[in-house]
Amino acid sequence: MVEPKKQIAFVVDLNKCMGCHTCSIACKTLWTNDKGMDHMWWMKVNTMPGRGYPRDWETMGGGYDGAGNLNLGKQPKTEDYGKAMEFNYEEVFFGGGNGKRAHLAPRESPGWGPNWDEDIATGEYPNAYFFYMPRLCNHCSSPACAQACPYGAIQKREEDGVVFIADQEKCESCPEPLCMKGCPYKEIYMNPVRNVAQKCNGCLPRMEREVAPACVRQCPGRCIWVGFLDDPDSPVHKLVEEWKVALPLHSEFGTKPNVFYIPPLSPPRLNNEGDIDATQPRLPVEYLRSLFGPEVDGVLSRLKGEIEKKRKKEESKIMDVLIAARWQELLGPFVKDPSEAR
Ligand code: SF4
Repeated sequence: MVEPKKQIAFVVDLNKCMGCHTCSIACKTLWTNDKGMDHMWWMKVNTMPGRGYPRDWETMGGGYDGAGNLNLGKQPKTEDYGKAMEFNYEEVFFGGGNGKRAHLAPRESPGWGPNWDEDIATGEYPNAYFFYMPRLCNHCSSPACAQACPYGAIQKREEDGVVFIADQEKCESCPEPLCMKGCPYKEIYMNPVRNVAQKCNGCLPRMEREVAPACVRQCPGRCIWVGFLDDPDSPVHKLVEEWKVALPLHSEFGTKPNVFYIPPLSPPRLNNEGDIDATQPRLPVEYLRSLFGPEVDGVLSRLKGEIEKKRKKEESKIMDVLIAARWQELLGPFVKDPSEAR
């Protein structure tokens, strides 16, 4: 695997994601709007805790064991993505009753699909909880997908560290998509029409024209930053390396992911009388530790300290970046308007 000269990275602030799916749709419209790609959501927003997309991806295995050996996990099945839904248009539009006799509904439940468990909370009223988590390929520094591919079809770019499928012709002769088993985040998709593996390409054609990836550019919540991890002036570098308030998801998978998350702060619990119990967070810290590791405790208290500084009208460089009043800062070096890039 080549050692990239620079490493592209993303930071997602889970306190700002409102689950609007604009990032998912921007990506879908641009990249996975073709034959055999219905089930592909290179960017998706999972409700956490939840089974996610593909269903139960967190427990399918992949990545590396503690000794650094490749660990092939499961390949998601068709049911884990869910089939395309067929609707009862005939009945509603031509069955008589002016649409009052039958309402539009799927003929058959596909059993699962993107956002199938959206907004379903965990826990009990009045202390139920959930949060949104946008997920994309991590453009890992040790990409298990590439390691698993026996044909060398997946590569990491020397220029920027983007992990991409360099040679899809090699996929056509592959009897078994080991890349899907290798990736513990299940970010490789099989195109059954073209018989090739496909994945997030980091919006390379846009980045090469200095335009930010579609998910970053379109996010109305200003919650995704892109930039080079090695650039000391980049907000991405500052949040991850300098201030250490952004953490990788499931670093125990061993792939050294380059998507980092600002963990979600929690509202307080309510007691039986409905009063605020400020001594306990509603979002269990153990759950956050299971996602982001033990470092999450320190990050949460640092974030609370920085918010407190702002409340006291003191300076907080971290909060200034996270608030993102200057939205162009989200774009890193990819500042061109898409309409200007030819
Ligand atoms: Fe490969 Fe999965 Fe890492 Fe993306 S997230 S680089 S597909 S191992």
